[in-house]
Parts: sequence; C-alpha cells; structure tokens
Amino acid sequence: MGQMDNIRNIVILTGAGVSAESGVATFRGPDGLWEGHRVEDVATPEAFMRDPHLVQKFYDERRAKLKTVQPNAVHMALARLDAEWKGEFLLVTQNVDDLHDRAGSQRLLHMHGELNSALCLACDIRSAWNGTLADGPPCPACGAQALRPDIVWFGEMPYHMERIEAALAACDLFVSIGTSGAVYPAAGFVQTARACGAQTLEINLDPSEGSHLFDESRQGEAGTLVPEWVESLF
Ligand code: NAD
Ligand code: ZN
Repeated sequence: MGQMDNIRNIVILTGAGVSAESGVATFRGPDGLWEGHRVEDVATPEAFMRDPHLVQKFYDERRAKLKTVQPNAVHMALARLDAEWKGEFLLVTQNVDDLHDRAGSQRLLHMHGELNSALCLACDIRSAWNGTLADGPPCPACGAQALRPDIVWFGEMPYHMERIEAALAACDLFVSIGTSGAVYPAAGFVQTARACGAQTLEINLDPSEGSHLFDESRQGEAGTLVPEWVESLF
C-alpha cells in the first residue's frame, strides 16, 4: 500500500488483539476459550437466562481487571491519529474494555458495548457502571434490580450500525487491527469498504479468517506495526 496520498476518510476496526499487549486476554486465546470459559457459556442471552450469576461474575471480573491495566502503544497511536487527522475518521472497536477511551480517542464507537456500562432490563436505560452487578444493585434510573452487563452478546444487534455503515461507505481507507475476523457483522466490514472503493489494510499477529479480502495484510505485533503505520501517514 504505497499510495496513501489520496486518503481523506479513514475507518479503523479494532479487536481484542489491540489490548493483548496491555495484558487483557483475547477471545480465542491458545486454548480457544475466553478466560477459561466457553463463549456459549458467558456471551449469549441463553447463557444469561440459564445462569445469570455465573455470567454476572464473569463480567464483574473483566470489569475489575480494567482497573489494573493501561492503554498500550496501539491505543496511543490511534488516539494521536484521531487528534491529528483532518479528514473524516472513525474508530470502531469490538472491544468492551475502556483502553481506547483512556488513551484519548474521541471519534470512537463501541459496537459490542462496554464493560463500564450497565443495561437495565426494566427501563432499557444504560448507566455508567464500574462496580459489580452480581450482587443485584438497583438501576440508577428506575430502581429495579434488573441490571445486566451492557455487552452485545452473540445473537444480539451490535450498536451504532447505521453510523458505521455510513462511515464505511464514505471511507478511502479501511484498516482492521487485532481481530480474528470470525465475528459478524464486523468481519464483513472489509467487503463493504471495498465495494465502496476503499483501500484495505489488515494488521494482525497471524492471518485472520478474512485476510485474503484485504489489499494488504501485515503480520506482527500491533504494538510495533500500528505506531509505524500511523507515523507513515503523516
Ligand atoms: P479474537 O480474540 O477473536 O481475535 C484476536 C486477534 O488478535 C487474533 O487473530 C490474534 O491473532 C490477534 N492478536 C493477538 N495478539 C495480538 C497482538 N499483540 N498484535 C496484533 N494482533 C494480535 O478477538 P475479536 O476478533 O476482537 O473478537 C472478539 C470478541 O470478543 C469481540 O466481540 C469482543 O467484544 C470480545 N472480547 C473483547 C475483549 C476486550 O474488550 N479487550 C477481550 C476479549 C474478547
Ligand atoms: Zn432501570
């Protein structure tokens, strides 16, 4: 991808791989589990109906862990790109951690929800949350003991899809970083961007499931490759 001169509008998609170097476990680690759990047991509405306490505990632990980790060079580089890029820019993350936020990214959408948010099943209001949910605290908005993690589980509709689709249609460059390309609709963004004429770049530790869909695929640690790539844009 030598010809970056005509780039004005950028969309970036990130996944669990960008937080790996901060010490946050990815989804499909070497054992194919998420922190020791099968995905079906912690990341579906059915799992929550079957065993709400286990699911609440799981996300309580993930939320507590956020207080012990820091943004890394990838989060910092993408926040700098956001701050300095004059054209349109959108960072779409599948991550539920708050590391992009803490690095200072502004033009940022969390398509799969956020650990630091709770969704009330009684009133449908989302509230900022950094404590636990397993102990059944009342909803700040309506008082019902009906809070669940504000996480988009498998089978649920991701947030902000209209804005994301519009940004993909208008971008000149789409970059996917640290995602396995196994979770839809995010895994299909590269095809949407391409169909609308964008150049496409993937940066991942190993080739993702959709590597062949990108104009260029760079393999290695995001903590090294992303700051290099951002530097090359200016
Ligand atoms: P994934 O775990 O399926 O894939 C992560 C990808 O990142 C893998 O392809 C891996 O090779 C790559 N990777 C690992 N370390 C890397 C590094 N240092 N540099 C570059 N690439 C690296 O994650 P996904 O595709 O984001 O799908 C996961 C789903 O699980 C999402 O829906 C997300 O909501 C959820 N999840 C979120 C977090 C988080 O918020 N940090 C963590 C785990 C899972
Ligand atoms: Zn409520």
